[in-house]
Amino acid sequence: MTIELANITKRFGAFAALDGVDLTVADGELLALLGPSGSGKTTLLRIIAGLDWPDGGTVAFDGENALARGAGERQVGFVFQHYALFRHMSVFENVAFGMRVQPRAIRKDEAGIHARVKELLDLVQLDWLADRYPGQLSGGQRQRIALARALATAPRILLLDEPFGALDAKVRKELRRWLRALHQEINVTSVFVTHDQEEALEVANRVVVMDKGRIEQVGTPGEIYDEPATAFVHGFIGESIVLPVNVAEGRVWIGDQPLNIAAPNVGGPSKLYVRRHDLRVGSESVGLRGAVRHVRAFGAIQRADIAVRTGGGETVIEIDTPRDQPLRAGETVELHPRRYRIFAD
Ligand code: ATP
Repeated sequence: MTIELANITKRFGAFAALDGVDLTVADGELLALLGPSGSGKTTLLRIIAGLDWPDGGTVAFDGENALARGAGERQVGFVFQHYALFRHMSVFENVAFGMRVQPRAIRKDEAGIHARVKELLDLVQLDWLADRYPGQLSGGQRQRIALARALATAPRILLLDEPFGALDAKVRKELRRWLRALHQEINVTSVFVTHDQEEALEVANRVVVMDKGRIEQVGTPGEIYDEPATAFVHGFIGESIVLPVNVAEGRVWIGDQPLNIAAPNVGGPSKLYVRRHDLRVGSESVGLRGAVRHVRAFGAIQRADIAVRTGGGETVIEIDTPRDQPLRAGETVELHPRRYRIFAD
């Protein structure tokens, strides 16, 4: 099932929660919506689900207008952050619930329901918990059961809203791998919302980075990390060092010092973005240098605060170097950006 969203807008009063969103989700894809709090991820997911309606734009499932159908008719499965399991029902009955309330014409008989629940509990590897109640499960187990329940009626689309958000870091990590493997097995077109970049990059086939109701970039995890399209994406993903520069006369200037790096196709006040691990201390001079202010040991590396003279004074950046290349407070070092991007202000 493909999902096509075109020019989606959604306002809450004067505030634009979604502002002209275009997005196509391919059949069988596992797509992450990634962005800071308030960027519009959940609103977009709710519009796909039919729990909310856009003010403008179109939503199509396999080319068919989905906006003509309510949530109940869209054949969409959901998993939310806060376990929505029924507390008074056993795990088995929770998973069976969706099938029991289906219209009589398509409802399975009792033997069919039993077989399907067993199949789903096997799939989420929790068949041994069938008789327990939600209160007797761990958080991670509850989310796996919530997923089994969402899949019970064979949805055409699976939507997950911060499904692991309430779990501790270790369990989250395990469940990420588990979800990726499960998706490979079931191959349902899936969209999941997260504000955790590591989660998005590790789990999804493609990542949509959102900010302020707009899509900043869509790409594979590798593209998003290695070729961030905007300053926002560079700053949001990975650890970025940002230095104010000026692009003039075909050169990049930091303060009144020209840098020996390629000038981009922008002009005027700009920012040089480098991932922390791409900024090396070395002899290869590009004209970027700074004064070491403070050094501290950090396992196999040392972390140094380095003051770089920039247009408006100085910018202190933090870089990591190996312990066997000791830096000393007070010395001046050459800094070499292996990879970098420059975005106009
Ligand atoms: P989070 O990660 O915090 O859940 P999000 O990216 O999912 O954030 P949304 O929940 O989509 O963000 O909200 C987008 C913006 O729309 C927010 O600024 C939010 O305050 C606003 N918003 C969402 N729902 C409503 C509503 N029912 N009424 C008014 N404003 C709303």
